[in-house]
Amino acid sequence: MLKSALIVDQDELQRCALARMLGKIGVSEMAMAHDGASAVAAIRQRQWDLVIVDLDMTDRTGLQMIDALADAGGCCGIAIASSHPSRILQAAASYARNRGVPIIAALGKPLETARLISLIELLERSALADGAASLRIAAESRGAVLAGLNRERLLRALAQREITAFFQPQHCAMTGELRGAETLARWAGDEGAMVPPAAFLPAFEAAGLLEPLTGYMLARAFEAQRELGSRPDWVIGINVPAVVASSIRWAQGVADRAERAGVEPGCVVIEITEDGGARSNGALVGAITQLRLRGFSCSIDDFGTGDSSLDRLLCAPFDELKIDRDLIARAGRQGHAQSILACTIEMARSLDMTVVAEGIETHEEHEMVRALGVQVTQGYFHGRPMPLDAFRQYALSQGLSGHGILRMCTSA
Ligand code: C2E
Ligand code: CA
Ligand code: CA
Repeated sequence: MLKSALIVDQDELQRCALARMLGKIGVSEMAMAHDGASAVAAIRQRQWDLVIVDLDMTDRTGLQMIDALADAGGCCGIAIASSHPSRILQAAASYARNRGVPIIAALGKPLETARLISLIELLERSALADGAASLRIAAESRGAVLAGLNRERLLRALAQREITAFFQPQHCAMTGELRGAETLARWAGDEGAMVPPAAFLPAFEAAGLLEPLTGYMLARAFEAQRELGSRPDWVIGINVPAVVASSIRWAQGVADRAERAGVEPGCVVIEITEDGGARSNGALVGAITQLRLRGFSCSIDDFGTGDSSLDRLLCAPFDELKIDRDLIARAGRQGHAQSILACTIEMARSLDMTVVAEGIETHEEHEMVRALGVQVTQGYFHGRPMPLDAFRQYALSQGLSGHGILRMCTSA
C-alpha cells in the first residue's frame, strides 16, 4: 500500500490535481515541491513510497532528482513526465531503472492525471511487491553461489559434472516447426535448484577457466546431438566467449572433437558471446573462418550489445545473427527501438545471414519479429530451457521429423 508521495511540478494547478487524486486512492502523507532544489531537499529528508517528477524543472532536471533518490536509498516507484520527445523520456526511464529506482510511468505532457493514477493502482496490485521480492531473491542467490567459488571448486564442478546442460527450443518463425536448441549451462545446486550462468560465469572468467568450461559444454552438446539421433536438420547452439574462440588451433580442435563424436558440423552453431573485448576481434576472425571452412555455422550473439558490434560483423564471416531479448522487448514499446530492430534484420538478411530472435515471450512479440523478417525464434513463448530428457519429449511432441527444417528457416 502506497502511503506517502512527493509531487514535483512547477505548475501549481497540476500539483493540486495530483494531490487530490492521490488522496482519493488512499495516499495519506503528501508533500509538494515547486522546484528542483526543494524536491531534492524533500528526498533527502525522508523516504517516499511514490515520487512524481517533472523532468523539465528549470533549476534541476529530473535526472538529478533520480540521482538524489537513488543516493537516498530509492523509493517504491517513480513516475516521470516531460514535454521532450519520447526518446528522452524513455532514456530517463531507463536511467532510473539502471540506478535501481523502479519506474511506474513515463508520460508526456500535459500530464494525464487519470492515466497516471490508474497506472499507480495497477502497480500497487501487482508489480511492485513481486519485482522487489524477485530482485531480492536474485541478489541473495547470486551472492550465495558466488561465495567460495575458487579455481579448485570450479574445476571440481566440471570434473564431477555438477554443471549440466539445459536446452532451449528454437523454432522456424514462418512454419512454427522445431529447428533445434541452444545449450545453456546450469549449476545443479542443493535440493535440485538450478543456478543460472550469471551466478557462476564471472567466477569462471575471473579464474581464467572459460576455455575448460566451453570444452565441457561442447562435450555435453555433442553427447546430446548423438543421443537425440543426429540428423541433418537438427541444429544445436553452443555459447563460446570471443576470448576463447581466439585461435585457429582452438577452432580446429572443435572440428576434431566433432568428428570424433560423430557429429555433423552443419548441425552445430557456435554462438560467439559478447565478452572478450574488441581486442580479440583479430584472432576471432581466424577462428570463425576456420570453423566456417570446417562446415560449422557461426552466430554473432546478442548483436548490438557490448562488444558484439558492427566491427565484429565486418571482420568475421558469421552466417547467423542473434538479436538480444532487450531489443525485442523494447521494440514492442518504443518506435525508435523498432526502427533499429527492422534495420538490423534487413542488414543481416542482405548479408544472407539467418536471423534469430531470442527472448520471445508473447504472441505479439512473435508476430512482430515474424513480420519484420526474422527466420528463427527462441524464448519462453515456445519453451524454457530444459534438461535433455524433457527436451527429447518436447521434440517428440513437436513431431520433429527431420525434413528440411533448417533449410526452410534459412531461406524463408
Ligand atoms: P544468451 O546466450 O543470450 O542466452 C539466452 C538467455 O536468455 C538464457 O539465459 C535464457 O534462459 C534466457 N531466455 C530465453 N528465453 C527467454 C525469454 O523468453 N525471456 C527471458 N526473460 N529470458 C529468456 P541464461 O540461461 O541465464 O543464460 C544467460 C547467458 O549466459 C547466456 O545468454 C550466455 O551468454 C551465457 N551462457 C549460458 N550458457 C553458457 C555456456 O555454456 N557457456 C558460456 N560461455 N556462456 C553461457
Ligand atoms: Ca547464446
Ligand atoms: Ca541474450
